[in-house]
Formats: sequence, C-alpha cells, structure tokens
Amino acid sequence: MAVQYDVIVIGGGTIGLSAAYHASCRRDSQGKNYSVALVDQYDVDNDNNSSKGYERMYRVLYAPGQRARLVESAYAMWHEMEAYTGNQILAEHPMLFFGFPNSATFEGSLQAIADTMDTLGIPYDRLNSPSEINNAFPMFNPNGMPSNYVGLRQNMGATILVQPSFKAFEGLARDNGVKFITSTKATTIDLGAEGPPYLVTLADGSQIEAKFLILAPGIWLNDTLKYFGLQAANSWSIWTMTLGYYNTAPMYRNTLPVWYEFGSAENGLYYGFQPTGQGPKNAMSEYPYAVKISADFTYNKTNNVATAITTPPSQDILNAITNRLGSLFQQETLSSNNALSGSEDACNYSMNGDGDMVLGRIPKGPGSTSYWDSASLFCMASGRGFKFTPLWGRVLTDLAIDGETSYQNDIEPFSPSRAGVFQNA
Ligand SMILES: Cc1cc2nc3c(=O)[nH]c(=O)nc-3n(C[C@H](O)[C@H](O)[C@H](O)COP(=O)(O)OP(=O)(O)OC[C@H]3O[C@@H](n4cnc5c(N)ncnc54)[C@H](O)[C@@H]3O)c2cc1C
Repeated sequence: MAVQYDVIVIGGGTIGLSAAYHASCRRDSQGKNYSVALVDQYDVDNDNNSSKGYERMYRVLYAPGQRARLVESAYAMWHEMEAYTGNQILAEHPMLFFGFPNSATFEGSLQAIADTMDTLGIPYDRLNSPSEINNAFPMFNPNGMPSNYVGLRQNMGATILVQPSFKAFEGLARDNGVKFITSTKATTIDLGAEGPPYLVTLADGSQIEAKFLILAPGIWLNDTLKYFGLQAANSWSIWTMTLGYYNTAPMYRNTLPVWYEFGSAENGLYYGFQPTGQGPKNAMSEYPYAVKISADFTYNKTNNVATAITTPPSQDILNAITNRLGSLFQQETLSSNNALSGSEDACNYSMNGDGDMVLGRIPKGPGSTSYWDSASLFCMASGRGFKFTPLWGRVLTDLAIDGETSYQNDIEPFSPSRAGVFQNA
C-alpha cells in the first residue's frame, strides 16, 4: 500500500529542496498544510549533483531584462531565508564583469548587459578601458588585458554560501514536517491518462503516492521524464566543469570583487570569488582566505550520466586557469597561481542545446502546449540556476498545485514546450 502525501518532490538538490519547503508552506482548502515527501537517490547534500560545493554567484547583471527582474525577486527571498534562520547566506560584495564588449557567450555580451541595465534603470558603472578597470579594482593587471577590454561594476553582487543555503531550506522544510526519503532512487512513476495521482516506486520497493508532483532531477532528467514520454533532445549534454581554490595574499583579499571575464567565448571565460571562509576543509583549514576560481568552459561534454559523475577535474583546464591568472592579477593578489593541492574539483551541469534553463509544467509531447495536470519540472539548470533557488521553488509549487504562477510572463523563455528541448522517449 503506497504511503500518501499531498506533494512528492523528486530531486534533493538546491531547487528540489526549495520546492519541498515552499510546498510545505501551502495549505489545502481546510487550512491544513500540505504533506510533502522529498526523494533523493543520495543524501540531499551529495557529491554528484550540480548543487555541490561551497559558493555560487549571485548577480543582477543579465542581458535579458526579465531575468534581471527575476533575480531581483530572488534577492528579496534570499534575505527572507536569512531572516527566518538567522544565518548569513549571501556574502555581498561588488561585482565586476569585464572583457570584450561584444564577446557572445551564453551569458550574453557586456554591451547587451549594459543596455539592459540602462533600460531597467539598474545602477552600475562603466569602466571603459583596462586602466579604468585597474583604477576601480587595483588587483587586476591592466597589462594582462587586451586594450579594448571594458568593465561593468555593479553593487548587487554576492557569493551565495551553498552550505548555509542547504541548511536553511532543509531545516525549514523539516520544521514543516517534510519527509526526507534519501538514499533511494525513484525508479518508476505511474500516471493515469490525465496524470494524478502520481504513484512513485522507489528502488527499495516501497511506494509513495501524491496528487502533486515536482521534478527537479538535474542531470538524471531522462530517468523520470521517460514516464511522461519525454527525453532530452540530442543537443542536450552534460558539461563537467573544473574548479580549484587559490590562496590570496593579504594585500587585496578584502577588496576582491566577485568577477567574471568575458574573453573569447570558446576558451576565455574565467570567474572567481572573494574569500568567504567557505571551501573544502583540507584547503580552508590551512588557507582560510583561499578563493574559488574556475573556467566557464570545458573539454568534457557527454550525454552519459555515469561518465559525467566519474570524470575527474581536467588538468588542461587547471593549466589554462593557472596560465590566465599569471597575467590577469597583480603579483600581490594570489600567493600562487596554482590551485591548492587537493582543492581541485569537478562539478557537472546539464545544458540544453540553447544553453538555457527549463522551467514549467510538463508537456504532453515534445513542443506540446498541453500539459500533465498537477506536475511541474525544472531541469537543464546549466551554470546559472542556483541564484534563482528560492524563487524557482515557489514557482514550481505554484505550477504543480495551482497550474499557474504570477511569474508566468517572465518565465516564458524557459518554457519546456520551446523547440529543441525534448524529443519522444
Ligand atoms: C561548476 C558549477 C558552477 C556553477 N555556478 C553557478 C553560479 O555561480 N551561480 C548560479 O546561479 N548557478 C551556478 N551553477 C548552477 C547551479 O549550481 C545549478 O543550476 C543548480 O545547483 C541545479 O540544482 P538542481 O537542484 O536543479 O539539480 P541538482 O543539484 O543536480 O539536484 C538534482 C538531484 O536530483 C536527484 N535525483 C535525480 N533523479 C532522481 C531520481 N529518479 N530519484 C531520486 N533522486 C533523483 C539527484 O540525486 C540530485 O541530488 C553552477 C553549477 C556548476 C556545476
């Protein structure tokens, strides 16, 4: 006999956790809080998912205007989480985007971002040359940049502290009675002709059933979507990203911004954080001011999950980072341009062919605008989903329980019905 819940969430990464928390805050027509089960094949804070690690970038610097507005909404919700828990989640610092003005990346170009900031009236400063970048942020070496580099400085930037974020959502969800079913995979989903109730069979043979279903399955999306007749299109791939921690020297460590370099779109994208005291224990115990630095490109792309989760950090990428750091910063910025031994890591994300996220109700076929009842989905999180965590949890809950959300217009570009996202399973 299946254990009954009102809502089942499959996936305990940052987005599933947020959805479970938000669903547990909703009440039925009798005023009773919905009962919620969250399922993850590992633990909620695991080493294989896209949410692992210690820091993620928060920014409003986006080229599409609606995305900047969504991120502003998420910002308020992050602070709401801090207020509920009394713990810091956002370490706020100025943000520096710099590079070629028209380098076309998945993040848009600097020029397009500046235009959007102008349109929306979001304050920022233009830095028109390497020397202006250096005046604003003296740790950057103007001689290490092409002469046509420009920069954008914006004050609403932050490092999202991943571990406190997980603790906040998990803690509040548990307080609301969410049942955490971990270390067991959701292997089968039975749905009627119209969808609900959804009967989920777990790897240990037990069954749970609910009227409302939320999927946030990360790179494992095909395992659950097949029950809805869908799978990722051929253009889908999993990108294995490489990162490391680099020790800062005292001179600039308190004034480092969160930064992102728009070099050549192919292999010139790098980013880094300011010290937050967060990071892998083996590095941070000795070097508490170390910072995460990473390349936003990879040579490891696959559509095989088993390959992705066993791919180690790329030595080629680590060499590229070391090489870039050698000229990017003034000498007194980092103690060494090499990653601290043992701090190197790999982390996977799921990339749709168009590079964008997928958020919405579950279509009844590829490109269909007819949807399964009482179910919602977030996948293809790419390298940018974390900052939306509190908002996406709410939107997924809206879509599963109410079938609509007040954010519908702004989330339209993420539609699961758009061309090229899914094909028939
Ligand atoms: C290197 C890197 C850097 C990034 N930087 C940023 C950044 O600076 N800013 C930003 O905003 N975003 C960033 N991101 C993106 C962000 O981290 C992801 O978008 C986000 O973590 C995705 O979360 P998720 O919950 O959707 O997926 P995941 O964290 O992957 O969670 C999915 C979970 O579902 C579980 N699961 C799947 N299928 C099943 C099943 N059938 N049964 C049980 N469990 C299942 C998995 O075990 C997993 O735990 C970055 C990502 C990476 C990899």
